[in-house]
Amino acid sequence: MNAEKSLKLARRFIELPLEKRRLFLDGLRAEEIDFSQFPIPADVPQADRQALSYAQRRMWFLWQLDPHSGAYNLPGAVRLTGTLNLSALEQAFACVVQRHQTLRTVFRQNPDDSLEQVERLASINVEHVDFTLLPAIEREQAVAAEAQQQSLHPFDLANGPLLRIKLLKLGADEHVLLLTLHHIVSEGWSMNVLIDEFIRSYDAFERNEAPSLPELAIQYSDYALWQRRWLEAGEQARQLAYWQAKLGDEHPIITLPNDYPRPAVPSYRGTRHEFAVAPELVEQLRALAQQHTVTLFMLLLGAFNILLQRYSGQNDLRVGVPIANRNRREVEGLIGFFVNTQVLRTQLTADTTVAELLAAVKETALGAQAHQELPFEQLVEALKLERNLSHNPLFQVMYNHQPQVADIEAIKTASGLTLGLIEWEGRTTQFDLSLDTYEKSGRLHAALTYANDLFDGATISRMARHWCNLLRALVDHPERRIGELPMLDASEVQTRVHDWNRTHVEYPTHTSLHVLIEAQVERTPDATALVFGAQSLSYAQLNARANQLAHELRARGVGPDVLVGIAVERSVEMVIGLLAILKAGGAYVPLDPEYPAERLSYMIDDSGIQLLLTQKHLQVALPQHIPVMCLDSLNDQQIARQTRAYSADNPVDLTRPQNLAYVIYTSGSTGKPKGAGNTRAALVNRLSWMQQAYRLTADDAVLQKTPFSFDVSVWEFFWPLLTGARLVVAQPGEHREPLRLIETIRQQQISTLHFVPSMLQAFIHEVGVEQCTSLRRIVCSGEALPVDAQQQVFSKLPDAELYNLYGPTEAAIDVTHWTCIDEGAASVPIGLPIANLRTLVLDANLSPVALGVAGELYLGGAGLARSYHRRPALTAERFVPCPFNQGERLYRTGDWVRQRVDGVIEYLGRLDHQVKLRGLRIELGEIEARLAEQPSVREAVVQVLDGKQLVA
Ligand code: AMP
Ligand code: MG
Repeated sequence: MNAEKSLKLARRFIELPLEKRRLFLDGLRAEEIDFSQFPIPADVPQADRQALSYAQRRMWFLWQLDPHSGAYNLPGAVRLTGTLNLSALEQAFACVVQRHQTLRTVFRQNPDDSLEQVERLASINVEHVDFTLLPAIEREQAVAAEAQQQSLHPFDLANGPLLRIKLLKLGADEHVLLLTLHHIVSEGWSMNVLIDEFIRSYDAFERNEAPSLPELAIQYSDYALWQRRWLEAGEQARQLAYWQAKLGDEHPIITLPNDYPRPAVPSYRGTRHEFAVAPELVEQLRALAQQHTVTLFMLLLGAFNILLQRYSGQNDLRVGVPIANRNRREVEGLIGFFVNTQVLRTQLTADTTVAELLAAVKETALGAQAHQELPFEQLVEALKLERNLSHNPLFQVMYNHQPQVADIEAIKTASGLTLGLIEWEGRTTQFDLSLDTYEKSGRLHAALTYANDLFDGATISRMARHWCNLLRALVDHPERRIGELPMLDASEVQTRVHDWNRTHVEYPTHTSLHVLIEAQVERTPDATALVFGAQSLSYAQLNARANQLAHELRARGVGPDVLVGIAVERSVEMVIGLLAILKAGGAYVPLDPEYPAERLSYMIDDSGIQLLLTQKHLQVALPQHIPVMCLDSLNDQQIARQTRAYSADNPVDLTRPQNLAYVIYTSGSTGKPKGAGNTRAALVNRLSWMQQAYRLTADDAVLQKTPFSFDVSVWEFFWPLLTGARLVVAQPGEHREPLRLIETIRQQQISTLHFVPSMLQAFIHEVGVEQCTSLRRIVCSGEALPVDAQQQVFSKLPDAELYNLYGPTEAAIDVTHWTCIDEGAASVPIGLPIANLRTLVLDANLSPVALGVAGELYLGGAGLARSYHRRPALTAERFVPCPFNQGERLYRTGDWVRQRVDGVIEYLGRLDHQVKLRGLRIELGEIEARLAEQPSVREAVVQVLDGKQLVA
């Protein structure tokens, strides 16, 4: 196009009313717009000419926040092999700098706060460094270190220069050229222009000729001014409306599972992890893209979205995607900051099909393309996002695909120099994670650059493999839902499902618990078994009394899988009663007499018990329709009578391992508590593990203080009795009073006891707790153990070990264990599976999640309850078939956890509305359902406040 025609077009444009300008531009083909003729009219004030583009303006502000970081450095490193003509090199750079105003520019703020770019510098220095004296093997390291140092070293925007050139000499014929630009005057494209112009000028100067580079039609500042005018002419409003509608009002931050806690102020340090995509896979991906009429970029982005969804568990993702923004011929040859960033939002769930995802990505990408000129910085401004140093606004993850990257190795120089690009790992990065893909000489390359503040290298190389696995899965199963695409390596699945669950230990699980206790009675008949206040019983005495009661229970029809209720206060009789029910072959159902009558009555009916053991004074408060036996302290006469009636010998054991030992009720979300029926084998497994792990001896004393309606009490009662230790039953109410506890611990020389963490916290802060020097084992479970409580125990009770156990009532008390140590970690883990138990961290499709990624905890193995008592539907819902081992069941805990690289499990929270209040398990839904039954209540919501109060 000739200059005259162009000028005419430009005049017409300027004369048009604002709303017509866009139409006018749309009618032009890109190459018809000649910027040099799209003139900045002579009357434009000098200040306007020096104004910054939108991108530069934002960069300036960002840089102001942290002027001493190299966050916006743009580094490049080129290896030059062959004889180097130093004067030609310097001349070449002088020539390039002469051509590009940007390279001579500095940025400053005027007293009136306006910003301008000013041409200040005429030339640029080349700094020389000589590495030839270094031993050969150290030279490459020195290069990498120097490249890294350059990429991090901050620029001075106000004084310049904004291009640094460093020439490293490695040998007579080998040099490395380090080029570092500030992002405010450049981007990746500019770096290519710089290298290209340098080489062409160098070739010319080397032959003593003047370089013949094409004249630049405009300079960057012309573009900046044009951009502003064009946007202000209506384009900005139009594109902004599009993006605001597309992005909505919420701008969720994507949270990938990080290896290190996010610092308030980022270091911007990054590492680049390069990896390759197999060529045959790339061919298949191209074919798949074609079938779905999407580009390779869209397909790769789709796979990246799946990866992010799996890692974050978030279904509304935003990925930043840079676009070159050099659509006009006149700007192609410029060095400057043109690149724009778009936010591509994708909504997806595990149920989205591959086809749906690709269609959505395509739609988003095409829409973005049609609205690509709105500078990202204007979008941020318009959305009035809060500035937050620790997170990049609108997106934290970047994806960049370059369909064609010049192969610098293939460039032929007239002077005979060979070029090579040097990659190094140490980078700066403004983002949490960036995926780069580029096609070079027909091959697809990829790199993940990650913030060192957040991730370590192993996590990222795993992530890279997972992305490649997803690409393969897309090709193999294009008909699936994305949640069904396999992401992990087969070896990872093996490790997670099988290797980490090799917990097999032989225990006597075919022998019933009471038989094992009877064996202990044989070993230490005269040792003290049970202490309650002033009362105490030897092993032989306890056994004899439990036997008599057991025979009587048998006579009343108690046998395997017969449930017997027991509603007694803490007492010697409580222990005798529990043991007797087990000896008779039955299963006990603890009914806390402190519970409201209505709840007791519900549990009695729901469990279907035909017999209830209780104490005389409690009888009146209990439902009358059920046969009861009172266990009150027998006077001598009664004992004599009983002795006559029932033998004190061990009853014959009638039970099998799968018979029930106890049924304990927990809160139910639909308003009705449910009973978990646990087997004898599961209980023996749990107690055998505990003894093997923590080893009680005859010298130990265990304080039993947990209400017997909680399964923790089960080990408190029976672990000491299995091992010859002393079982000390706390007085009623004592478990809630730290001062009384301290007294009992000292008097009874307690070595072992349990706390729910909230009670531990009250206890450990009590005056005089240091005097509990007999304590050897403090077992915590029931809720998350705070690091602070752990530290208190370490400092106040240095001789005690602290254990964090985890387990639901549905799996025989506990399933994972952790011995607390001072790791300086932010939380106390729940550890690893106990013997013969298996733990799996799975997603909604029952696939193992990636390491470190949150998932639901599933339990398998010897500890699982047999069922929810008389609740087949609920049982089927929570106890599901194991997808990995045929015939096995898994219990869905509803607990949200993640696994560390060593397999140790960290507890994160609940997936549902179950809460713990001082260790008490409550389904908020149960309370809500009961409230809603009131005629005056239409809707009810229950919440926990400060972890302390229930509020409805
Ligand atoms: P329960 O059936 O009363 O034992 O309650 C089981 C639930 O308590 C689990 O599903 C967890 O939500 C929670 N829980 C038990 N132990 C722990 C622990 N050590 N850390 C965190 N939460 C726990
Ligand atoms: Mg538990």
